[in-house]
Amino acid sequence: MNIEGKKISIIGAVRSGIGAAKLAKKMNAIPFVSDSGSWESLQKSIEILQKEGIDYEIGLHSDKVYDCDLIITSPGVPSDSEVLQKAKQKGIEVISELEFASWFCKGTIISITGTNGKTTTTSLMNYTLNECGLKSYSAGNIGNAFSEIVLNVKENEFVALETSSFQLDFVNKFNPKFAILLNITPDHLDRYNNNFEEYIAAKFNISKNQNEDDFFIYNADDLTIVERIKDIKARKIGFSLYKKLEVGAYYRDGKICFAWYGKHEEVCNSSDLFIKGEHNIANTLAVLAVAKILNLPNRKIKNSFSTFRGVEHRIEFVRELDGVEYYNDSKATNVDSVWYALKSFDKPIYLILGGKDKGNNYDKIKDLVIQKVKKIYAIGSSANKIYEYFKNIVPTEYMQTIENCVETARKEAEPGSVVLLSPACASFDMFDNYEHRGKVFKTAVKNLK
Ligand code: ADP
Repeated sequence: MNIEGKKISIIGAVRSGIGAAKLAKKMNAIPFVSDSGSWESLQKSIEILQKEGIDYEIGLHSDKVYDCDLIITSPGVPSDSEVLQKAKQKGIEVISELEFASWFCKGTIISITGTNGKTTTTSLMNYTLNECGLKSYSAGNIGNAFSEIVLNVKENEFVALETSSFQLDFVNKFNPKFAILLNITPDHLDRYNNNFEEYIAAKFNISKNQNEDDFFIYNADDLTIVERIKDIKARKIGFSLYKKLEVGAYYRDGKICFAWYGKHEEVCNSSDLFIKGEHNIANTLAVLAVAKILNLPNRKIKNSFSTFRGVEHRIEFVRELDGVEYYNDSKATNVDSVWYALKSFDKPIYLILGGKDKGNNYDKIKDLVIQKVKKIYAIGSSANKIYEYFKNIVPTEYMQTIENCVETARKEAEPGSVVLLSPACASFDMFDNYEHRGKVFKTAVKNLK
């Protein structure tokens, strides 16, 4: 793709916007970055833009934005924002950073989307390919922006690309060789006019440019997906926790299996996996499907699956103290994730819940809480809602801080039980982000005597 001399406006000066601007400059285009945020919050980005000699404006989107051949928007910018609406009225092409970077990718793209499990699956995908002797990079929401690494990727190399629906909102030609759709449940609906169909359509954009030579790897247990795959042009390869498939990856009687047109093989046992929980078996099946299509040897695949340690803040084992295990699942910012976390343990659980509420409905975890949870510690701005919902179901107590929760759980949890931070809520009422929350929890756990 030749973009030499083209004027490209980039909305948003954070990770992907900066990556796109640098890539545009390297390709001899003329980037202009515009961000309506504050100077203080964008200090680091401004330093990079100055160092790179890239033109920018901060604190507004002026008319200069529209003096261009193309607009690249960042995932944080809502599609109904004034700046994008204006661009649309003026007939300017708007694309995501992911689309833009993909124009320059010589390697094979494995794009991974879904409501939950993207980061874990992307990391495991990247890890498995590298462990099996191929060269792979991970990018997207995880680690580097795609634009930052794309020029390093050679023809016979791979990119495991964590792909959010916001990036898929603005794709035209994006065409991954492998598209993985892990699951679709209602989340982020505020960004889609509370319209679940719009959110589903964004996720399916991952496959819209694929053809018969490409692969669409999908969750065959997810009806929202299965009901909508008939128009997919790529080869459809399912994965399933519950069904024996004739083509695809599946789980049966504790075994992780793969079938290719009726030829079945067992690759490893679920007990070989280091990462916990049924949801992680599903993520592993998705990776297995790609690994098998690439003809990687079972022995190496199995070794990768058993040595992959998971990703920080996702049911992350922190410590065992006096027979009690502590797990950090700070990334569980919705009720669905907590459901999966609770399913992952067959021990009594002391659960830390709460934070900034996102319109949560706790009915989905009520039964699991009754079965498994000994006590709930409720924190943050949603503590009251949690207390009112659970107080007659299981012992529930208000707590001021995560440290209080950890210290109280230390006194109350008996050997053989689990203390789990899996808050079901966003973190912004008390923390900078979920990573900050998870680190505070881990520090409190590590400080226990
Ligand atoms: P994402 O990047 O999509 O947010 P992560 O891999 O970071 O996903 O996992 C976030 C949380 O989602 C995990 O802590 C876990 O509770 C839940 N989760 C992970 N994989 C799945 C899955 N396949 N299905 C449902 N929930 C999952």
